[in-house]
Amino acid sequence: MSKSSKQSKRGEPRGLEVLLDPALNKSMAFTREERERYGLRGLLPPAIVSQRTQISRALENIRRKDSDIERFIYLQSLATRNERLLYRLVLDHIEEILPVIYTPTVGQACKEFAHIFRQTRGMYVTADDRGEIRKLFDNWPYDDVRVIVVTDGERILGLGDLGANGMGIPIGKLALYTALGGIAPGKTLPVMFDVGTDNAELRGDPLYLGLDRPRLRGVPYFELFDEFVEAVQDVYPNALLQFEDFATPNAYALLRRYRDKILCFNDDIQGTAAMTLAGIHASTRLSGIEFADMRIMFVGAGSAATGIADLMTEAFVATGLSRDEARQRLWFVDIDGLVVADRADTLLPHNLPYAHEHERCDLGAAIDAIEPHALIGATGVAGTFPRAAVERMAAINERPVIFALSNPTSNAECTAEQAYAWTGGRAIFASGSPFKPVEINGETVTPGQGNNAHIFPGVGLGAVMSGARVVTDEMFLAAAATLAEAVADENIRQGTVYPPLSSIREISVAIAVAVAEIAHSTGLARYERPSDGLVAHIKSQMFDPTY
Ligand code: NAD
Repeated sequence: MSKSSKQSKRGEPRGLEVLLDPALNKSMAFTREERERYGLRGLLPPAIVSQRTQISRALENIRRKDSDIERFIYLQSLATRNERLLYRLVLDHIEEILPVIYTPTVGQACKEFAHIFRQTRGMYVTADDRGEIRKLFDNWPYDDVRVIVVTDGERILGLGDLGANGMGIPIGKLALYTALGGIAPGKTLPVMFDVGTDNAELRGDPLYLGLDRPRLRGVPYFELFDEFVEAVQDVYPNALLQFEDFATPNAYALLRRYRDKILCFNDDIQGTAAMTLAGIHASTRLSGIEFADMRIMFVGAGSAATGIADLMTEAFVATGLSRDEARQRLWFVDIDGLVVADRADTLLPHNLPYAHEHERCDLGAAIDAIEPHALIGATGVAGTFPRAAVERMAAINERPVIFALSNPTSNAECTAEQAYAWTGGRAIFASGSPFKPVEINGETVTPGQGNNAHIFPGVGLGAVMSGARVVTDEMFLAAAATLAEAVADENIRQGTVYPPLSSIREISVAIAVAVAEIAHSTGLARYERPSDGLVAHIKSQMFDPTY
């Protein structure tokens, strides 16, 4: 038996304890010798099977279920029985399993979290723990936590305030960290920062499992978060803290508060940005337009779209533009129309750098006036790329770039079919959630899925492996460039600007190497550069679920 990937604080377990420890359990795959050695004889059916056979059984069980939410529940319980089997299954069948453990199914799982709840996972840090948060960490049984994903549940995917039900997101993201970034399960910690919820429906639900009170806001909220961060720094000083699905004002406020002080990033802002920038870079191979010459229009001006624009600003600056020139390439349309200087008093601080001098107008008129090469949607609202707007993009551009990033699939700004149909098949389309290939003009076009999972596991892995003190924009630019380069010519020919999900683990290594390289060369790494080289070192440290 391999040593537990979770370093338990207790002694080496035996017998039933082994079978009940998801990090140790191999169930019927324990060999005769292992059964003897660990006191398992008589506790297991006599047949000894391979991990491959166990995967076949698990797949049979998954496929027999009637709905994705039932499949989700099955996989969650597999995580509490046999971690290595779960992660081997995810890696071997990623295209089938990823949409079940993460988007789109995780959205429904969060909505129903209190009703499908079986067994607790992760940590709940609540407003009632003020002054005592450090003590909670004494109850967490693992010593070497390297990646923490935290949410306060206020803006879960495109679904709004789901309170403590949002715990499904840190759990799901960390499952991806393990599968795609090779961070061992025992080195991950999902955290629900529960400060209440303003979702009246949830609070009226007798099964709701979070704090039944309105959200804590303002100074007390940030003081509580400071206490949480201090506790993390004290117990796990080498851990990366990843912020997920905070409402936009808090997302920005927290990022600004900590990004230069501790190892952290916000995936909705920075991960989405790098993922989208990679897609834009790859789109230039189809459109023939240089990135440095592009004008880009965002529909939706929240944390996702603004994060993309902020990183694109840096990318334009890297091509030689001034910061002001770079921002002039980036335009926003929100629910009230084009974001312009004249609207400054109603805009949030993060919108102001992009509130250019222009008359107020709607999306259609804005496309006519600004003639963008790309339309990037992050509204969370279906139908926000209306037919007329997409047709205008096609009238201006030979290959209009149309990215409908909102999740889940039902919230995408337009569907893949619409984008291709309204542009005569000329759109370079990508979405946040999966769409099936589309037949157009006798050809099959495969929409790319721009998933943050292309970026964050690699960035996190590189940061953790080098012991980076902070995560910089330069690291995200490098991650975007690495991802764009990983799109094969064959994928580009099919109209796809993202690599298939099956290649993410390999891409994560390449991104991790790029990120670690920056950490080492800019003096941000706390660890020595490995003598065996970054690639070999990082690969050797990755959790391998095979037994
Ligand atoms: P947010 O609430 O901060 O912002 C939403 C923005 O959309 C606001 O500016 C709002 O004014 C605008 N909006 C709403 N309705 C509109 C309309 N009818 N027309 C124009 N603008 C409209 O949310 P966010 O954090 O920025 O996330 C937005 C979406 O982006 C979510 O649905 C999320 O799923 C998606 N997202 C996708 C990925 C990905 O990997 N694909 C990553 C992060 C976020």
